[in-house]
Amino acid sequence: MARRRLLWKLYPTYILLILLCTIGVGGYAFRSVKAFYYSRVAPDLEARARLIQREFAADFETATPAELDALAKSLGPASRTRVTIIGPAGVVLGDSGKAPATMDNHADRPEVIQARASGLGQSVRHSGTLRADMMYVALAEGGGKGGVVRVAIPLTEVQDALATISKRIWLGGLVVAVLAAGISMLVARRISRPLRGMMAGAGRFAAGDLAHKVLVPDTVELAGLAEALNRMAEQLDGQIRSLTLERNEREAILSSMIEGVMAVDRDQRVMSLNQAAASLLEVDRSGSEGRDLQEVARNVLLQRFVARVLEDGGTQEGEIVLHDGTERYVLVRGTSLLDVDARRIGALIVLHDVTRMRRLENVRRDFVANVSHELRTPVTAIQGFVETLREGALSDPDRARHFLGIVGSQAARLNQIIEDLLSLSRIEREAEARKLDTVSTSLEDVLHAAAADCQVTASERGVKVNLICPEELTARINPQLVEQAVANLVDNAVKNSESDAEVAVEAEGDSAGVVIRVRDHGCGIPAEHLPRIFERFYRVDKARSRKLGGTGLGLAIVKHIALAHGGRVTVESTPGEGSVFSIHLPIL
Ligand code: ADP
Repeated sequence: MARRRLLWKLYPTYILLILLCTIGVGGYAFRSVKAFYYSRVAPDLEARARLIQREFAADFETATPAELDALAKSLGPASRTRVTIIGPAGVVLGDSGKAPATMDNHADRPEVIQARASGLGQSVRHSGTLRADMMYVALAEGGGKGGVVRVAIPLTEVQDALATISKRIWLGGLVVAVLAAGISMLVARRISRPLRGMMAGAGRFAAGDLAHKVLVPDTVELAGLAEALNRMAEQLDGQIRSLTLERNEREAILSSMIEGVMAVDRDQRVMSLNQAAASLLEVDRSGSEGRDLQEVARNVLLQRFVARVLEDGGTQEGEIVLHDGTERYVLVRGTSLLDVDARRIGALIVLHDVTRMRRLENVRRDFVANVSHELRTPVTAIQGFVETLREGALSDPDRARHFLGIVGSQAARLNQIIEDLLSLSRIEREAEARKLDTVSTSLEDVLHAAAADCQVTASERGVKVNLICPEELTARINPQLVEQAVANLVDNAVKNSESDAEVAVEAEGDSAGVVIRVRDHGCGIPAEHLPRIFERFYRVDKARSRKLGGTGLGLAIVKHIALAHGGRVTVESTPGEGSVFSIHLPIL
């Protein structure tokens, strides 16, 4: 249905009412005035009629129609009326205006009928003869013969006066109607304007501008409506604010979680996922919502797990492996997602990346195996030689001395491994507890001490250790640990250099920190070993390392000392040309 403005619904009704009232009141006024005029004219005419009737009373019986007609013609102008004498059969006997012979039978005229019945008849009619509205008064002639004397006057004057009055009435009515129409327009506008204001306000509410206030009109009903609208907007605003706050809180919690959280609906479509889940599954977060899980995470294990949660309900746990370039172990926990009526609408999946934990477990397992293996070698050797001694070698002093020498060196090796392990775990513990004791130290002193530690081995192997360090260079370090690290690097450099070679130990500082470099021109390290040489017990050449008395822990110790200082260790090496190990220590 076509909609119209309220104004155009109200206004035509007003106009109709005004027109009806104007026509009603005008018509009534006109009729009253007309009746008033006629009531003034009628008695006058009746009086004239009675006088004329009296003139005729004597002659009616005796006079001829011609005499009656002559009398009528003389009385008519004298009384300024039209006088008509009607015989008992309705035949016109005389008339002041016309020749009776030319006139119709008047028996059917209402005033004549009335006069015959009651003696007096009156009517207002249009006279075809005179072509004007006339007022007629008819009186029975009195002789009882049925004759009637009728006088009439034209109502032209009265009607002229009535026409003027009618014009005035209608003009007045028109003015009143126009005024009323104008006032109605104002009233209709007054009713519809606040409604339009409220409509505009409600439109703004619908568009989200809930802070807007609808103006409260002064009409009780409209004011109630406006206040209800404003209250509704306030409540909506409050509810939207608290919902937004809740959503933001939830978003903040979800996005700050390390665990990935993902919600899927019953058709395995992703409803939402947090940043951690998106990075774990290596997908774009915003582009994933609303898409099928199969498209988002191309992982059969995860899809099966989600399907199981959706089917079985309750809480499910499992572990899946994601293969995206690297292998990642993910602990998954899923629960049913319920709506307000506790109906299952999907599943909530929490993904916990346990790759690091698994790797650490592996490292620990490998480490235990490596330590056992490393310890077993000297222990087996010691046991073997002690057995040999028991079985008779003791009686041969030279052999006994030789074997005891080996037992001694294996025991020393055992001791060295244990020492290295202890110092590694101490450094790790201190670094974890952030309890490293540091003091501002001259680096030259530290490098000197480290070189001195290796002096015996260096002299034995004929290797020269050169120090290049600015005298004034200081750093906030733990001097014993840095000395141990540099000594380990120098020891390796010396052991891996030919005799007469030179090993350079340099230190330099800048705004970022200090770098200590140990450079040798020895055998170098093949590139494939470089990523692993800082691992515990990792050796490039096992037999050679053992022969040189290495434990495989030296570089691991260097790495942990650098880490404990917040620094790092790097290596550059070219097989056959030599290696450069650098310890980078930031300014603490
Ligand atoms: P090790 O006690 O065997 O020296 P490290 O952890 O100190 O153990 O070193 C690990 C391995 O790295 C060594 O076995 C050796 O093969 C290699 N390496 C270390 N430093 C050097 C170097 N300066 N030149 C050549 N190879 C080196």
